[in-house]
Amino acid sequence: MTVREHKSQHEKVDSLPLISKSATVTEVEAMDKVRRGEVRRRLLKLGEKHGFNDVVPAAGPIDWDVVFEAATQSRRQLASQIGAFRDRFERAHPALVRIVFETEEPFEFAAGQYLSIRYRERTRAYSIASSPTRDETELCIRRVPDGRLSPRLCDELSVGDRFVVRGPNGHLLLEDSSPRDMAFLATGTGVAPMKSMIDYVFETGRDEYEGKKRDVWLFLGAAWEDDLPYHEAFADLNAEHDNFHYVPCLSREPWLSDWDGETEYIQDALLKYVDERALEDAAFGRHIAEMLANTPTTTVDARIDPHELEVYACGINAMVYSLETAVKRLGVPNRHIHCEGYG
Ligand SMILES: Cc1cc2nc3c(=O)[nH]c(=O)nc-3n(C[C@H](O)[C@H](O)[C@H](O)COP(=O)(O)OP(=O)(O)OC[C@H]3O[C@@H](n4cnc5c(N)ncnc54)[C@H](O)[C@@H]3O)c2cc1C
Repeated sequence: MTVREHKSQHEKVDSLPLISKSATVTEVEAMDKVRRGEVRRRLLKLGEKHGFNDVVPAAGPIDWDVVFEAATQSRRQLASQIGAFRDRFERAHPALVRIVFETEEPFEFAAGQYLSIRYRERTRAYSIASSPTRDETELCIRRVPDGRLSPRLCDELSVGDRFVVRGPNGHLLLEDSSPRDMAFLATGTGVAPMKSMIDYVFETGRDEYEGKKRDVWLFLGAAWEDDLPYHEAFADLNAEHDNFHYVPCLSREPWLSDWDGETEYIQDALLKYVDERALEDAAFGRHIAEMLANTPTTTVDARIDPHELEVYACGINAMVYSLETAVKRLGVPNRHIHCEGYG
């Protein structure tokens, strides 16, 4: 009997084919902002309303234990908002970076694939965010607090630095062209392979099949607006193409700004845009039925027919799993659902 060797994810990506021993970083840019000032102002306002503003200092560090105690004593429902403010105020910056690099020789990959990067003796997988039509390759990386590699990529990497690149690998790939519409669903940096695929779709005219436009949807979720990678690029694409529908979903942003877009989880937001006529007499549980009945917050008037849809989903495993379950229930055929989990 042959016992298959078990390899961890990191070991696996360390043994992909070598692309470059010495790829050169040509750009590093923070994608998120420092928003401590905004958090403090909103916290003070909240404090004025609920009588705890005297424990919020006008400048300097905030004692969050004291704020928590004072704010939630009589109003328990404030706990999640104060917790979100604390996390946002205390978090290291940058928490999201884009990294562009070049290799000595060009390499081929398909939109949606990932590479492995070895830097400072650690190897991790990162999806390619740029289209295969571009000369330089772009990654989009989120800081995992206390992670071994991502904080170093966020804090230490600069133009001219070098790292080892292996790959490409991955099966999150575009289907052959067809008349089906496409829905891309991602949270945070899960959008990296989607950016590559969406750019590629529009650059190569795959958003059209036999003279007919296909609707291309992107539901992108994050907590805060500046945690949406490529937000402006997607908004521009949305303005440029009638058949591209960008639906950002922000769970916490309304606490910090006048955000008036979607705030649900992306799988729930998607349900609001489903054409109920396409579901015929299908029966759903209460939650799905309620979401289907909700009116979209945006002005997008296109609607989704799940039977005529191909779905691409990427993000943390738990989210990808619930997305997969939700779209299957709606009637998207299994063979048209393509998912990748980041762990
Ligand atoms: C196919 C694939 C593609 C990927 N593409 C990207 C990408 O485009 N951009 C990107 O930022 N990351 C991506 N990742 C995740 C990336 O490979 C690393 O796991 C991540 O950067 C954390 O590495 P680390 O060394 O900082 O943390 P580690 O030291 O490996 O982990 C520290 C702790 O954080 C937990 N953890 C690991 N990853 C995550 C995470 N993503 N979210 C929350 N907790 C986590 C671990 O379970 C562990 O407990 C991808 C992963 C896979 C498998």
